[in-house]
Amino acid sequence: MGSSDAVRYDAVIIGAGAAGLACAAGLLPGLRVPEGRTVTTLYHAPAEPPTTEPLLFVDSRRRFLNTCVPSAVQPGFSPDGRALVSTSVLGSPGPAETAAVLRAVGEVYGAETSHWELVHRVTVPGALPAMDGPVPLSRTTRFAPGRYVWGDHRATGSLQGALASGACAAREVLEDLAGHGP
Ligand SMILES: Cc1cc2nc3c(=O)[nH]c(=O)nc-3n(C[C@H](O)[C@H](O)[C@H](O)COP(=O)(O)OP(=O)(O)OC[C@H]3O[C@@H](n4cnc5c(N)ncnc54)[C@H](O)[C@@H]3O)c2cc1C
Repeated sequence: MGSSDAVRYDAVIIGAGAAGLACAAGLLPGLRVPEGRTVTTLYHAPAEPPTTEPLLFVDSRRRFLNTCVPSAVQPGFSPDGRALVSTSVLGSPGPAETAAVLRAVGEVYGAETSHWELVHRVTVPGALPAMDGPVPLSRTTRFAPGRYVWGDHRATGSLQGALASGACAAREVLEDLAGHGP
């Protein structure tokens, strides 16, 4: 499509995620691109499962984000019949930090973890938007007349936040197109 074929719309809605907003920022002057948080998930394979419960534990001391045993929910998640323990942490921990995380995980499960084999690790840069409090848990998606921005970064860094923000965008667009907006 050539520039002379430009199409005009009454409403343009951008839902590109926090990372993708860097591209949209050029189209929407003044748009603040939210800072992202890197998350690393460590996968350990102990000989015995530290729990058979399908639970996800969070750490109130914030030494890790959460830990769970996926093979307790679905045995097929284990690569070789051993238990599979998944633990997510903020950032990209080095060897000493990884060992400290493993000790903390051992406290939670009440298990000796020093011999747990690290079978895989995945680091996702910008996995979640930074939410340095205090922040409102729900923000308008109206950015400028006829321009809307939605995503987890406009609510809470989660699938639930993304869905809530998308629903908010739909409501606000409909209100504005009907002439009932602010
Ligand atoms: C590994 C991982 C595990 C997670 N686990 C959980 C969990 O268990 N529970 C939970 O609640 N949340 C979890 N989250 C967070 C959750 O996935 C996000 O909060 C949610 O997906 C954000 O939705 P969104 O629509 O705002 O952005 P996204 O899901 O990031 O969607 C943005 C979309 O825009 C597209 N895009 C980007 N740039 C452009 C561009 N320039 N042009 C066109 N399209 C573009 C992307 O390809 C993507 O499809 C997890 C995230 C990660 C990374």
